[in-house]
This record gives sequence, C-alpha cells and structure tokens, in this order.
Amino acid sequence: MIEFHDVEKYYGDFHALKNINLTINEGEKVVLIGPSGSGKSTLIRTVNGLERVQSGQLLVNGFDLADRKTDMNKIRKNVGMVFQHFNLYANKTVLENIMIAPRLVLKRPEDENKKLAMDLLDSVGLADKANSLPSQLSGGQSQRIAIARSLAMKPKCLLFDEPTSALDPEMIDDVLNVMKSVAEDSSMTMLVVTHEMGFAREVADRVIFMADGEILEDDAKEKFFDGQ
Ligand code: ADP
Ligand code: ADP
Repeated sequence: MIEFHDVEKYYGDFHALKNINLTINEGEKVVLIGPSGSGKSTLIRTVNGLERVQSGQLLVNGFDLADRKTDMNKIRKNVGMVFQHFNLYANKTVLENIMIAPRLVLKRPEDENKKLAMDLLDSVGLADKANSLPSQLSGGQSQRIAIARSLAMKPKCLLFDEPTSALDPEMIDDVLNVMKSVAEDSSMTMLVVTHEMGFAREVADRVIFMADGEILEDDAKEKFFDGQ
C-alpha cells in the first residue's frame, strides 16, 4: 500500500531523502531507526503529505504523492499520525478531541462517534478523563489520547514520529504498551520512528535503518537483531 520509487526530497539545497526505494505491505509493522537528522521524520511525514517530495514516485493507497495534483485530503483520511508533542486541541475536552475529526471528516453519526470514542478511551485506560482538558493530563496520558484520537479515524495506516521521546521515563511504558496492543489487535499498517529497541524487537515485522538521508538497511526483524 506504500511504495517509494526513486524518491528524492530536498529542503532548499539540503538533500534530505536520497533515492528512497521501499515497499510497505498492508498490515506491516515497520520501525525506523537511525541517528538524529538522518531523515526518519521526513520520510514518514512524506507518507501523509506533510512533506512534499520533489521527484520519484510515492504511492499511498494508489495515489501518487509526488504528483502535485494529488489531493492530500484523500490520503489523510486513511493515514493518521501521532506526533512527539501530541498536538491535542487545548480548548477541547479529551472526548471532543477524539470525536472531532470523525464528525467533520467522516460525518460519523454522533451516537456512534461517541460510543467509539468512549471504547477507545477505555482501551487506552483513560475512560475517566473523557471530560478533562488536555492541560489536566500528564504527557503519557496525552499521548495515549493522541493515539486514541488517531484510531478513531480507523486509518489504514498509522505513523508514529518518536511518540515517547518527549515523555518522562516513567510514562514511556504506558504508551509503548498501548502501541503494542494496537499492533497486536489490528491489521493496520504501522510505521514507527523510535529509539525504543525493545519495542522494535517485540513488535516490528521489519526494521529500517537510515543514515544521512539514505536507507542503509531494511531487514526482517529476525535478521536485523540476529546476533545482537
Ligand atoms: P530525523 O527524524 O532522522 O531526526 P529529520 O527528518 O527530522 O531527521 O531531519 C533530516 C534533516 O533534514 C535534518 O538535517 C534536518 O535539520 C533537516 N530538516 C528537517 N526539516 C526541515 C525543514 N523544514 N527545513 C529544512 N531542513 C529540514
Ligand atoms: P520534533 O522534535 O517535534 O521532531 P523538529 O525540531 O525536528 O521537531 O522540527 C520541528 C519543525 O521544524 C518541523 O516542522 C521540521 O520540519 C522543522 N525543521 C527541522 N529542522 C529544520 C531545519 N534545519 N530548518 C528548518 N526547519 C527545520
């Protein structure tokens, strides 16, 4: 469902993605690792059109994101993203944060929308926070809400950009556990940029190692961790 063919990405003169060739099958769980500045975030941001690529072909659900004429809204419905800094709507309750996009974008009926949102809150262990504001949550709770909000859109693919990097250490496991159960319970494609190698070991089907804008390794997990 995601195919990169000879993709190049520049920020001005800076060559951020170099000759990326990559196919990610539906349902695959892929972890991206590599040094800071190697292009991991850029790569996953191209998959939902947050960053444009300048050449090559980037097929997501059959749409070519390298083509300027492609309507990104067609992609964003199906490709969700969880950010390092949560990006919750500060003046809306937790429940509203989860319900707003399905209401506006998918026109999901209100009762069905609310039921799904409450089920998702329950599944991330935060049913009691439905009426709280984001400012009343810890970082770990905020991130679990951000994950629930993404899941409410029932995306085909969910991107995670260092979802635990901004969290206090004691909250990291709560978020990783939610991500693990999502990975186990769903046929959704997951692309995860993380430094959490334990997560990669447990959850990933594949591990991709990037450096300096290039993919240097792309291996099945078993091969990647062989001998480590
Ligand atoms: P990583 O996620 O591996 O840390 P990034 O994809 O965030 O790497 O960044 C890759 C490189 O691209 C870095 O050198 C970064 O400074 C640069 N970069 C990222 N975003 C921009 C931007 N909007 N404009 C210019 N340079 C950028
Ligand atoms: P985060 O830590 O949340 O991944 P970054 O600090 O990497 O965020 O980047 C924050 C924003 O700044 C992003 O939109 C990214 O594209 C942009 N950015 C990153 N590096 C550069 C750069 N060298 N020049 C211009 N913009 C950049």
